[in-house]
Amino acid sequence: MAKHRCDVAGCTRNRSRWQRVCARCFAVLPRRTSLALISAYRSGDRTAWRALRKESGHQLADNLASETRRLLARAGRSGRTLPPVSSQQAFQNHQRLLGEQD
Ligand SMILES: [Zn+2]
Repeated sequence: MAKHRCDVAGCTRNRSRWQRVCARCFAVLPRRTSLALISAYRSGDRTAWRALRKESGHQLADNLASETRRLLARAGRSGRTLPPVSSQQAFQNHQRLLGEQD
C-alpha cells in the first residue's frame, strides 16, 4: 500500500488516502486551519495550500513546544531533571521540524 504523508509541514506521519492531514494533526490543529487546508487542496489553489501547509506546521510546532514545556514542568515537580533547552536550541528545533534554513 502506498504511503500518504500528512500535508502539515514538518509532520512525518502517514494519513489515509482520503485524508489530507493525519489524525494527530487533525486533533491538534484548530479546526479552521485543517478545513482551510483541505478545501484549498480540493479547489486546486496550490498557492493557498502551500501557505496553509506552512502555517499549520508552525501551529503544530507551537503545540508540540507547549507540550514539551508541560512535560518539563511535570518532571520538575517530581524532582527529576531533564536537560535544559535554551531558546536558541528551541528555535533550531523548530526550524528543523519545519525544514527551514537560514
Ligand atoms: Zn500530521
